[in-house]
Amino acid sequence: MTRERLNSEMSIKIFLDETETPRQWYNLAADLPNPMPPPLAPNGKPLTPEALAHVFPMNLIEQEMSTERWIDIPEEVLDILYRWRPSPLRRAVFLEKALGTPAKIFYKDESVSPAGSHKPNSAVPQVWYNRQFGTKTLTTETGAGQWGCALSFACSLLGLTCKVYMVRISFDQKPFRKTMMEAWGGKCVSSPSVETEAGRKYRALDPEMPGSLGIAISEAVEAAVADGTGGTKYTLGSVMNHVMLHQTVIGLEAQKQLAKIGIKKPDVVIACAGGGSNFAGLAFPFILDKINGADIEIIPVESASCPTLTRGIYAYDYGDAAGLTPLLPMHTLGHNFMPAPIHAGGLRYHGMAPLVSQAVVSGLASPQAFLQLESYNAAILWARTEGFIVAPESSHAIAAAVREAKKAKEEGKEKIILMNISGHGHMDLAGYSKFLNGELSDYSLPQEEIEKAKRDLEPLPKIV
Ligand SMILES: *Cc1c(COP(=O)(O)O)cnc(C)c1O
Repeated sequence: MTRERLNSEMSIKIFLDETETPRQWYNLAADLPNPMPPPLAPNGKPLTPEALAHVFPMNLIEQEMSTERWIDIPEEVLDILYRWRPSPLRRAVFLEKALGTPAKIFYKDESVSPAGSHKPNSAVPQVWYNRQFGTKTLTTETGAGQWGCALSFACSLLGLTCKVYMVRISFDQKPFRKTMMEAWGGKCVSSPSVETEAGRKYRALDPEMPGSLGIAISEAVEAAVADGTGGTKYTLGSVMNHVMLHQTVIGLEAQKQLAKIGIKKPDVVIACAGGGSNFAGLAFPFILDKINGADIEIIPVESASCPTLTRGIYAYDYGDAAGLTPLLPMHTLGHNFMPAPIHAGGLRYHGMAPLVSQAVVSGLASPQAFLQLESYNAAILWARTEGFIVAPESSHAIAAAVREAKKAKEEGKEKIILMNISGHGHMDLAGYSKFLNGELSDYSLPQEEIEKAKRDLEPLPKIV
C-alpha cells in the first residue's frame, strides 16, 4: 500500500539507530514539585541505606536514593540493550481508520525485547550492577512471568544464577513462561512454595490458594536473606525508584522519534500501570516537559479489579504480604490484598511505585481504570487492525487510547496520542481463548475491600 493510499503524510514506523540511543536515564525524583516522603524502616524511622544492604547491592541502593537528574547508562549495559533497542515507534494508522478519528495514535513497541516486554530494560542493569558488586545469585518473584523471564535472560548473559517464585495462578495458566526461564537457565517454582517459611505459612492456611505478588515477594526476600554468605541478593521488577529510572529509555527514545517527524509534543500519553514501571518509562520524560509548562495529559491505566491509583489509599504500606519490606509511601489496596484472578497478571499488584503515586498526588498524572471486557475488546480490535496480539496488560492502554481517539472525533480535534505497548500476548492466549469463548466477565473491586484495606493500614505510620 502506498503512503498516499494510507492517507498518511508521515512515516508510520520511526526508528533510531544505536548512535541515537539515550545514554543517560532520567530521574523524576530530581524534579518533583513536592519531595517524596521517605521510605520507613519497620520501626517507623526513615530507612537508612544500610537497612537495605542485606537484600540489595549498595550501588543500586545509591541509585534508589539518588536525586541526580541524569544518570549515565553503563556502556556494557547499552551493549546488551542494543539487541532490541532503540525500540520502534509506530503510528496506528489502521486503528485510526477503523475508528474514523482525526487523532494520530503513536505507540512504542516494547514487545520486541527477547523476553517480550519492557522488563529487560531494568533486568539488564540490575543484574549488571549486582555483578559489579560481586553478587552470584539473584532471587525474585514474578506475576505473569514476564519479570522472571527478563531476569533469567539478563542473568544468562551476565553469568549469574537466577531463582524465580512465580505466583501460582500464573504458573498454572502460563506453563510456557517457566520453560522460557529454563531456556535461559533460570529456576522457577510455584508460589506459595514449600521452600520458604512464608510459603509454607500460606500453604497451611489454604492449600489451594492462587498466590499473590505480595506472597511471592515475601518468599524471594526470605530466600535472599537466608543465604547468609551475602552472595545472594533480591531483585524487583517494578515499584522501586531505580526500576522507574531504568525504564525511562522508552520515553527518551519516543521524544527523539516524535521530533524526527516534526512533532513537538504529544497531547495525551497513555500506559498501563501495575507496579508503574512501563508507565514511568514512557511518561516520566514527558512529565518533566509538563513540569516545564507543556500541556500534556498523562494517563496511567489500571485494572478496575485492582484499582490502586483510582480507588486505593495513599499511605505507608508494605510491598509484600508478610511485611518483610520497608514501608513505602504509595497508593495501596493493603498488603493483604488478594487480587481477583483476572488475566492481566501484571496489573494485580496491591501497591504502586512511590514515584508514580507522588506524580498522581502532585496532579502531574490522571489515572483511569478499565474493566477486563472493554480491554479485551480493544485488544481484539487492535489485532484485527494493527495485527499485533498484545499482552492483556497492554490492552488496558489500548482501551484508554480508543476512548481518547473517540473523544477527539467528537471534539473534532487532531490530537496526538502516544501510548506504550508493554508486551506481546503470545504467552497469554489462555486469556484470549476464554474471552473469545465468552467465558470472561467484568469484575470491579467491591467497596468492602477498600474498607478492609483502611483497617489493615490503621496500625501503620501515617504520611505527614
Ligand atoms: C509487568 C508488566 C506490566 C505491569 O508492570 P509495570 O511495572 O506497571 O509496568 C505491564 N505489562 C507487561 C507486559 C508486563 O510484563
